[in-house]
Amino acid sequence: IRCCTVGGCLSANALAVKEQIEVEIATQDLNPPMHVRGVGCMGLCSRGPLVRLDPAGILYDQVTPEDAPELVHACHKTLQPHLPKALSNSSPLQPSSYQPRHHPFFTLQHPIVLENSGHIDPKEIKDYMAQKGYLALTQALYDMTPSDVIDQITQSGLRGRGGGGYPTGLKWSTVAKMPPGQKYVICNGDEGDPGAFMDRSVLESDPHRVLEGMAIAAYAVGANQGYIYIRGEYPLAINHLETALRQARKQGLLGSQIFESPFDFRIDIRIGAGAFVCGEETALMASIEGKRGLPHPRPPYPAESGLWGCPTLINNVETFANIAPIIRNGAEWFVGIGTDKSKGTKVFSLAGKIQNTGLIEVPMGTSLRQIVEQMGGGVLDGSAKAVQTGGPSGGCIPAHAFDTPVDYESLTRLGSIMGSGGMIVMDQATNMVDVARFFMEFCMEESCGKCVPCRAGTVQLYQLLTKICDGKARKEDLESLNQLCEMVKDTSLCGLGKSAPNPILSTLRFFKDEYLTLMHNEG
Ligand code: SF4
Repeated sequence: IRCCTVGGCLSANALAVKEQIEVEIATQDLNPPMHVRGVGCMGLCSRGPLVRLDPAGILYDQVTPEDAPELVHACHKTLQPHLPKALSNSSPLQPSSYQPRHHPFFTLQHPIVLENSGHIDPKEIKDYMAQKGYLALTQALYDMTPSDVIDQITQSGLRGRGGGGYPTGLKWSTVAKMPPGQKYVICNGDEGDPGAFMDRSVLESDPHRVLEGMAIAAYAVGANQGYIYIRGEYPLAINHLETALRQARKQGLLGSQIFESPFDFRIDIRIGAGAFVCGEETALMASIEGKRGLPHPRPPYPAESGLWGCPTLINNVETFANIAPIIRNGAEWFVGIGTDKSKGTKVFSLAGKIQNTGLIEVPMGTSLRQIVEQMGGGVLDGSAKAVQTGGPSGGCIPAHAFDTPVDYESLTRLGSIMGSGGMIVMDQATNMVDVARFFMEFCMEESCGKCVPCRAGTVQLYQLLTKICDGKARKEDLESLNQLCEMVKDTSLCGLGKSAPNPILSTLRFFKDEYLTLMHNEG
């Protein structure tokens, strides 16, 4: 019996459920014997606590400690050879159960990054190793040169999953080409977008996967020191990472002379203090250096002059989580998944006014309609109006464009971005001007204040949106709004300011009537 004990399930009393199942197993003295394991995220976070009975693969949702006797009994029945593997419709728990092998929330997924999530105990390195964990690192160290590794990553077409979609192999080769000497590898786990929880879930559910990806990257670029920069608001992810680091060092997988090879690589954790701007790579490096987390202009890029002026490779959690399977299975395997220009899969946190919220991983090119209507089960009441992708840097995509495939280029054409993977579904009752104002308020509060266009521009944009929402705006204010958006976008120093106007620009493009209606109400 696998019981999710992270994230949403944990906050819904999953530990009590697991403990009660343990008690029941001990009490019922079963043959064949059964065990309960605490595992990572199973995806359907809004329906937790989730418990899966294996090997039948039946998933139960919203389980309470009181369900434990029935659940253990039901699981034991599936182990009897003369009974069907799947539970029948007469199961007392059926009204709140899912059969994951057939539910679209699961059948449309293609787990690569999340392949171990919900299956292994994230606090046990042996669970990870039983799923071919650290095999890719062994392969890289013994069978491949650093340039072989970079070639594989380049040929795979993997692009950075943190937002920009920069080709990962190109970034790695730039760092590798820098003269030998001190180099660093950084994992950006400073996930700050409202509605996004992909990185948290991956780090809570499968931390070794990220460590292995970082170690392979370090071998490829010639680095001996790594940092994981993670939000202080993620205590469980930090705890699991610390445990994973201890275990990996003890096994000789990290530290000096990995697998008795000459390759040394150490990883340390740095905990962020809650500033959204520290997700921007130059601000993040300043924060690691012990300075205030302020962005600085690029070039020079971190690949040439990053942490303490040394060549530095920065990728996000999901990018590193893709590395081990690419090395294990080969670039060709990865190229076969996704679209022409966007290879592989993407993890999204599906949130908002939708039936099934949680974590999903789909092949690039899956349509928004499939995600919203099939996997998400549609909106709670009525129909969907829009989907916001990319967090405060992204945009709102209207329902009539839901047949758009989810890939970097298509989302950009619609005025949004892939971002790190936040996806918020809105229903017909949602006021899109209010949505734009919400994201602008977020950017205004998170602006570090270093450059004027962002520091003053976001305040003015927020004030203009408030004026519109209050029905006090005139038509010329709409023109000012547009001009100000363009100015902030063109002249801000870092990505936060440059992308802050996106929610306004996309709602002006697709939902201008809602702005005009509010003008009209001025009387
Ligand atoms: Fe700071 Fe905003 Fe300027 Fe970025 S764009 S440096 S967050 S003020």
